[in-house]
Amino acid sequence: MKFNEALKNIEIYEAGKPIELVVREFGIDAKDVVKLASNENPKGCSPKVAEAIAKSANRAYLYPDDSMFELKEALSLRFGVDEKSIIIGAGSDQILEFISRALLMPNDKVLMSQVTFAMYEIYAKQMGAKIVRTASYQHRVDEFLEAYQEHKPKIVYICTPNNPTGDATTKEDVLKIIDGVNSDTLVVVDGAYMEYAAAKDEKYKIVPNDIINFSNVIYLGTFSKAYGLGGMRVGYGIATSSLIEELYKMRPPFNITTLSLVAAIEASRDEVFVNESIALHTQEIERYKVFAKEHGFEYIDSYTNFITYLFSDKIDSTEVANALLKEGVIIRNLASYKMNAVRITIGTKEQNDRLFEVLRSLLNE
Ligand code: PMP
Repeated sequence: MKFNEALKNIEIYEAGKPIELVVREFGIDAKDVVKLASNENPKGCSPKVAEAIAKSANRAYLYPDDSMFELKEALSLRFGVDEKSIIIGAGSDQILEFISRALLMPNDKVLMSQVTFAMYEIYAKQMGAKIVRTASYQHRVDEFLEAYQEHKPKIVYICTPNNPTGDATTKEDVLKIIDGVNSDTLVVVDGAYMEYAAAKDEKYKIVPNDIINFSNVIYLGTFSKAYGLGGMRVGYGIATSSLIEELYKMRPPFNITTLSLVAAIEASRDEVFVNESIALHTQEIERYKVFAKEHGFEYIDSYTNFITYLFSDKIDSTEVANALLKEGVIIRNLASYKMNAVRITIGTKEQNDRLFEVLRSLLNE
């Protein structure tokens, strides 16, 4: 069978390992597994969301409200944007896919930072597009604008805060990149972790209205992180209504399930939960910084709900990640990004205690 030529150079996305895998492979009890690999909210989801899902379980047989009226209304109120400016995806991932399919043709180019969210590349390659990366993992304005001038990409991805590094780009710098790009290039500002950056430092806070007056910019957000709904798969794109209308042509019907809509609508009403989640995170991440200093390795200052530890030659990230896995602690090895580094989601106090305990004994061996 002859598959699309474009698939030849696509590497399959490596998702964070699930708890079930550790239970199966290492015979560890599920309750003892500590999963700090997929940047989920360690507080879980809001109890109000869990209750709303349970109450709506008997609606599972119904197709969802395809207009997504209530969720769009909630987002429209939260961000002060028109409902016509909003598209909802099965995770912001699905919106990334819509964007690629709507815009890219074979041999078009897309521009992104050296180390960034892997799906930008995968969706672009599916369309036969070529990947251009800046030299740094940080989003440097000069590097982006130089590469833009040289390659004239169809899409520029700005991931702020950036996954898997955790650093962020100031609003000022994001606007400089947008300003330096012509209106026939789409700039995607992926704010999957924006709630954490906004809480840490105003300079990094970007809301859709800061950027969507540009006709060639889309802001992406998600319910998967601060809102604690990774398992429900709900994300959104916000842009001018004409851009959203084009993306709508890519959308399959009923792309958000009935229960996911219930969950996201309820989560939108519970800002207290989001604030508590960020407060827990802010407290716990400090312990990760202290741990790194105590053990003599570097970390990237994080604007997200995870921290990236950078190891010297003396420590191998693959060995560390594998050894932790055997003890039931799942973290993300960044060797596939050509970094001797690991990305660790900041967990609850107890989860972090366990990680420090296992990692400390490994490093002292
Ligand atoms: N963008 C970034 C930067 C991410 O890290 C992720 C998830 N890891 C996504 C988008 C997609 O998130 P979701 O599909 O869960 O909304």
